[in-house]
Parts: sequence; structure tokens; C-alpha cells
Amino acid sequence: MINGPDPFDHASLIVAHDDSNAFEAVVPPIVQTSLFTFETVDEMVATYRGEKNRPVYSRGLNPTVRHFEEMLAKLEGGEDALGFGSGMAAISSTVLTFVEPGDRIVAVKHLYPDAFRLFGTLLKRMKIEVTYVNGTDEEAVEKAMPGAKLFYMESPTSWIMETHDVAALAAIARRHGVLTVIDNSWASPVFQRPLSLGVDLVLHSASKYLGGHSDVVAGVVTGPKALVDRIRSESLPYLGGKMSPFDAWLLIRGLRTLPIRMKAHEAAGLEIARRLKALPEVEQVNHPGLANQLPPGLSGTSGLFSFVFREGVDIRAFADRLELFKLGVSWGGHESLIVPGEVVLQQKAQPNSAHAFGMNPRSVRLHVGLEGTEALWSDLETAINAARKT
Ligand SMILES: *Cc1c(COP(=O)(O)O)cnc(C)c1O
Repeated sequence: MINGPDPFDHASLIVAHDDSNAFEAVVPPIVQTSLFTFETVDEMVATYRGEKNRPVYSRGLNPTVRHFEEMLAKLEGGEDALGFGSGMAAISSTVLTFVEPGDRIVAVKHLYPDAFRLFGTLLKRMKIEVTYVNGTDEEAVEKAMPGAKLFYMESPTSWIMETHDVAALAAIARRHGVLTVIDNSWASPVFQRPLSLGVDLVLHSASKYLGGHSDVVAGVVTGPKALVDRIRSESLPYLGGKMSPFDAWLLIRGLRTLPIRMKAHEAAGLEIARRLKALPEVEQVNHPGLANQLPPGLSGTSGLFSFVFREGVDIRAFADRLELFKLGVSWGGHESLIVPGEVVLQQKAQPNSAHAFGMNPRSVRLHVGLEGTEALWSDLETAINAARKT
């Protein structure tokens, strides 16, 4: 099933760097500079004419960012990649490169909320329409496709972790000549390689598993050179959401342990999801690994999932009582985290995707980190026992 390098093979993470100025350092240096100088006007002119590819200014090309981009492209099986200052910068720059006023986007329901808000505010103002489809209903996807410009996917989706047959949906879009983009932050290239499933462009919030240490906000997009080149020349320089060299350096460090971190998140997350499902206090657990089989193209599961409490548990008391699970958004780092659904439902930012798509107010999202399954389970059990209403 895996096309390209095996993501569990450490060699797939090795990208050579030019160490001519770096004392053969084993880790690529951080080229923390805004600009690069020229010896001669001739060289400067040749570069500006596009005859020479060398760094000029770090909003365009920076060697440390480039190193990260090459690593990520290799992991996803892309020809090229572009690093951004956030996942949202990757999403907005990518989408805005390929749509114009009057165009229509088809998107799956239960999107990452800020992507949903981008579509419902800025894009709407630009007269770009979005049709939401149920990604589990291939007939509905087929029906929405004629005349669309771009199909925006996420699988598993945010919060409820609904999975889709990515290859089947990408094939439908391709038949209609619609460009496909997927947010692959949840699975990471370790467990899902959408380019090998026929998707055109793959993007990530690198703030999550790619970084893996909760110390970076960044994003990336990868795919065929021709498409990445369009984003590089048409939107990145002017929207300006470029990744910084230091963040790229942290991401290079993060990627080196991505495969082993993902295996650990998978094992702990799945075990905790199974134990939660067996509890009388829990009505439902939304974890793709609890289904009879994973959808085609998804080879493993990460540490992020949600579940729904039955009446009889005080969810605020439960969340406040937890010690290892910290109350906080984001995910993908060492730490285990919890977000109660009621927080998202009361969020002021509009449009609110949770309201639009009927999120269960008794649901809770967990990110299972790397503290160890038994310690995390004991934390959850203690908090549930303390929060049971008598
Ligand atoms: C966090 C997140 C984003 C946005 O990424 P930022 O780096 O926070 O801008 C996009 N998609 C998903 C699925 C996310 O979880």
C-alpha cells in the first residue's frame, strides 16, 4: 500500500544538507538571517532574472526552511513542499492560489473550525461559494462535484474523527477535473500518504505531530512541483505567511522522531479509547481504531479522539480534576490534553462549525500524549470517580 519510502525507515528522513559552511555539523545549521548578499551585480542580476537559484530574502528561499521542506516532501512522497508560518497560512495560501470570485469549493463536513471560518468569512466575501458534503456518502460527493474548482478534504475529520475513503473521493473529484487538497495533520505521513491515494495537494498544521514538542506554530503543503510552484509564485510572497528558520530547525528535529512518536501515540491512544468504551459512564467513543477495520489508505491511528459522557458525570468536575491531562487546545506534543465540548460550543468566533454541524455538548476531546498508558488511565479513572453524580 505504501508508495515511496517506508515512513518507519529512518533513512527516509535523511536529506543531505550543504555543510560547506557548517564544520560538517550532523544537524543542519539554523540560517537565521533575513537576507543574503551578493559578490557582484552580475550575480545579483542573474538571480533576479531567474537564471540562478540561490537565497535572496528569507520570505522566499531560506536554506533551513528548505531542508525541512525537502524532508517533508520525501515523507509524503511529494515532488516539492513549501513551509508556512502556521497551518492556517498553508491552508489560506493554498486555497487562494486556485480559486477566484465566482468559483465553488466542495468541502467535507466537520472541518477544522478555522478552515471552516476562512471559507465562511473571507472567501464568502470574495464571492467564493462552499458546498459542504458528507464525506461518507460517495453519491453526495459525486453530485456536488460538477462545476466545482476545488475539493477540500480532511480524514479523519476534526472532533468527531469521521473517516473517509480518501482514494475513492479523490477519484470522483479527478473524474470531474476538480483539484483535491487534504489536511493530513491527524494521521501524519506515518499513517496516511494521500498523494499515493490520488490527492493533488497535502497540507499540515506542522504545529501538531510534525513538530511534536508543542513549541512551534507552522504549516506546510506538498505535492507535484507544478502545483507547489504556483503557490510559491502566486500567493506565498504576497500573503507572506512564510515559515521562520528557527521554526524549521525545530521541525527538522521533530521529524527525526516522528515515526516512533506516532507508534507510541497510537498504542496509548487506542488502549485508552478501548477502556473508555467499556465504561458505563461513556456513551460513545469516536476513535477510528475502534471500527472493525481502518478505512483504505489509513494504516494507523494517532492519539487524538473524542468521546461522549452519559448523563450522571459532571464534565467540568472531571476535567478540572485531571492532573496529567491538561486543559488546552492544540495537540501533537508530549503532553496529554483535554478540551470539553461545551468550551467549543460557547466559542465567540463565528461562524461556529460546532453549531453548524451539531456537536454533542457532552463530548470531550482527548489528546493522548507520551506520559505512559497506565499513568494516564489512572488519571482518567480517578477523575471520573470524583465527578460521578450520586
Ligand atoms: C491546528 C490545526 C490546523 C491549523 O494549524 P495552525 O498551525 O494552528 O495554524 C489545521 N488543521 C488541523 C486539523 C488542525 O488541527
